[in-house]
This record gives sequence, C-alpha cells and structure tokens, in this order.
Amino acid sequence: MAEASADDVDRAVAAARAAFDSGPWPRTPATERGRTLARIADLLQRDRESIARTESLDTGKTLKEGRADVDDVTAVFRYYAGLAGTHAGRVVDPGRPDVVSRITHEPVGVCALIAPWNYPLLQMSWKLAPALAAGNTTVLKPSELTPLTTVALVELVEEAAVPSGVVNLLLGAGGMAGRAMVAHPGVDLISFTGGLATGQEIMAAAARGVRRVALELGGNNPNVVFADADFDTAVDYALTAAFLHSGQVCSAGARLILQEEIHDRFVEELAARADRIRLGNGLDPGTECGPLVSAEHRAKVEGHIERALADGARLLAGGTRPADPALAGGFFLRPTVLGDCTREMAVVREEVFGPVVTVERFGTEEEAVRLANDTGYGLAGAVWTADAGRAERVAAALRHGTVWINDFHPYLPQAEWGGFGKSGIGRELGPSGLEEYQEKKHIYHNTAPEPMRWFSG
Ligand code: NAD
Repeated sequence: MAEASADDVDRAVAAARAAFDSGPWPRTPATERGRTLARIADLLQRDRESIARTESLDTGKTLKEGRADVDDVTAVFRYYAGLAGTHAGRVVDPGRPDVVSRITHEPVGVCALIAPWNYPLLQMSWKLAPALAAGNTTVLKPSELTPLTTVALVELVEEAAVPSGVVNLLLGAGGMAGRAMVAHPGVDLISFTGGLATGQEIMAAAARGVRRVALELGGNNPNVVFADADFDTAVDYALTAAFLHSGQVCSAGARLILQEEIHDRFVEELAARADRIRLGNGLDPGTECGPLVSAEHRAKVEGHIERALADGARLLAGGTRPADPALAGGFFLRPTVLGDCTREMAVVREEVFGPVVTVERFGTEEEAVRLANDTGYGLAGAVWTADAGRAERVAAALRHGTVWINDFHPYLPQAEWGGFGKSGIGRELGPSGLEEYQEKKHIYHNTAPEPMRWFSG
C-alpha cells in the first residue's frame, strides 16, 4: 500500500475543494445524488463475495461477518439514497403574510473521513454515504492496518460515475496522513471513528481551525442480566456480545453484570461455552472467531488480562493463546471470562477491545443501573429481563447512546448511532447522520418591502 505524504494530502484536499467550489456534485439535485448512491449499493452487492473475502483477509474476521458487513454497508447506501431527496429543509411561519421564511439544508464542504480497523468498510460507509447524499466532497483515510476494502469501495464509487474530485482516497498512518488531514485549512468538517486519545487530539486540531467535528469513540458497554431473563437466550447473547469479532467491537458487551440469584450458574455456563468457541482462519467455514488484528493489539489485551488477575479477578475461561500449533502463526487469543470483577479494576474501567468479558454482580435494580452507568463512556448497553416495566425503567435510566432490551448488537441504518460522554460527539445513521453533513441556512424573503422608518432622518 502507498503511504500518503503531506503533499498528497494537499493535493487530495485541493481536488476536493475544487470539486466542491465549482464542480457539479454539490449542485446536482439530491434525488439524482441518491440514484448514484443506489448504484453504489448495487455494485457492492455485485462484488459482495470478493469484498467480504478481502475484509476477512484484512481484519481476520470470519467470512460470514465479512458478508454481513457488505450487506449492512449496502443497506446504509440504500437508506441514504432514499433519504437524499427528502431532507432539503423546511418552511417556517414568519408571522407575516408577505414574508417567506425557510431553512435550506446545504452541504458543509470538504469532509475529512477517518475510519478505524475493526469495521473498515462499515465505519467508512456510515460517513461516506451521508456525506455524498448531502452533496459534500470528501477525503477518506482508512486505517493503515485495514485499507483494502476502502480501496475497493472507491473503485465502485468511480464506476458509479461520481464526478472526479468528489471522493479522494488517502492511505497511510494516522500520525502522518491523518494528522495532515485534520490540520488542513481546506477541510471544513472532520468525521472520525477510532480511539479516545486520537479523538481528543483531533478535536483539538478541529478547534484550532473552528471546524466541525464528529467523533465516534470507544465504549465500555454493560450487559445487565436480571434473574427473570430467559436463561439460555441471555447466555447465548452474552457470548456474541463479548466475543463477536474477537471482542474488537466498539459496542462489545464486555461488562457482564449479573443478578446474584443466577450469577454462579450463568458464569459456569458462559465459561464452558466460551471454551468451546472455535478459533481459526476467518476464511475457514468452521471458524467462529478469527485472530486479533495485530501482534501489538494482542499484547495490549494480554496486558489487560495479566493486570486484572493481579488485581484479584478470577480466570474462568481463556486467558492464554490457543495451544493448537496450527494457530501459532496468527495473533489468536482464547475467549476469556474474568469473574469476581469490581469497579475499581482497570479491566472494568477501560476499553479492552479484545475477547475478554468481565463479570460483576448486583442485587437490586438500582444497583444494576448504578454499575451500568459507572463509566466515562456511554456508547451502548443491554438489559435482559422478562419484566417489561423494569426493562423500560432501566432502558430510560441507562446513559448510553443505544440500549438493547433482550438483544445485543443489532443496529438499523435508519436509527441514530453514537455515544454519550466520552464515547463521542454527534450521531451517525438515521436523519441525524445526514444532518451532520449539512449546513442550515435561514432564507428570509420579504416579498413586499417598504421603508420601515425606524430612523426618522
Ligand atoms: P485509532 O484511533 O488508533 O485510529 C483510527 C483512525 O485514526 C485510523 O485511520 C488511524 O490511522 C487514524 N489516526 C490515528 N492517529 C491519528 C491522528 N493523530 N490524526 C488523525 N488520524 C489519526 O483507533 P483504532 O485502533 O483504529 O480503532 C479502535 C477504536 O475505535 C476503539 O476505541 C473503538 O471503540 C473505536 N470504534 C468506535 C466506534 C463507534 O461507533 N463509536 C466504531 C468502531 C471503532
């Protein structure tokens, strides 16, 4: 892969700037832009298998997940294809018959879109589809660890006849190309998904230029199970909540919070099933979990486990690399269940972002809510209970951007996604996801102007 220099960033931003200031895309009717997005969606489905395979090779995720990602990305392009022509603004009542007052939605300008490595294509599409629907021009940078499917997506964008200069792809490291992008005065908006520390740095860079910024950062997500929940279903979902994509999911249910009465039985069942998760090559149909993304990341997750055990957590499953010699060449780590965890432990307080679930226990509903909300993050959380009233009370009390009741992980293109607290600023998906990329202009039209004689002279 190429490594973009500061000069390349300059050229990409200049191309996006020219396409925005004088190119056709921002001036194209939104419904027509929508049709282009729908073409991109069709092309994604045409190339579904090869893109899914590439995503699996790049990230280590299973082919099944890669296919699900391409389908989700397609759905996002289709959703914004449809929304594009319906979100042009609104008319407001000016209180006078001779005035027309309206709010128009316009594109923001040149948008720098920066994505992480865990869902490379998906996270980029949550930005690119609404940015294009709204008529912006863009400069994209995928993670240096997983650039391949974004390259494929940009090829499809070209094939769908998006005018030149509208989508500009930069590859390279965050510290180089990424930093140059966010510092560039030609950029009007920065949309970033990634880690908290990077988000803080990007927000500071955006502040210097007083540029719009949208941040999707980490999570430390509670999965609260009451004793009256359907036991088998809750155990089953606790596994996917924690171990899907080896836990490298921003909304992973990494903090399992169990009611006292079911704690021991639940933990025993969970640990036994975690032990049976089949690790392997993501392209092998028998594989349930692939490797972690890099040796560095695995070492970081192992460091978290080591510290948790030193802090008094009890190892109930995993904690080590798999013994199977066939897996020795990959960055594998066994699904890990840590019991007897408390709020003071770093493993509970920080985002581990690996195949590790911590288990805490609670007695009352109030205690459950307190534990679930005791985090600086606020991305997502779940509550499991058969009591609909309690489910609604807890859902209302959780300070997280997405709450699942008796479920975990699903999201909808038409429903907003984003974080409370340190999980981010702004929302992706849904109508708000489009509005992130729109300026709002008030046009006040006096159709019968007459002197108002405020000043008498
Ligand atoms: P990261 O912050 O290391 O990198 C993310 C992107 O930013 C990459 O493209 C990287 O090259 C770039 N980057 C790095 N430093 C930069 C800088 N100084 N200036 C500009 N760009 C820079 O994050 P990551 O490790 O790739 O992703 C994992 C993190 O992403 C986790 O914390 C996870 O929770 C978060 N995430 C959040 C969501 C969400 O929806 N909230 C979704 C997926 C991932």
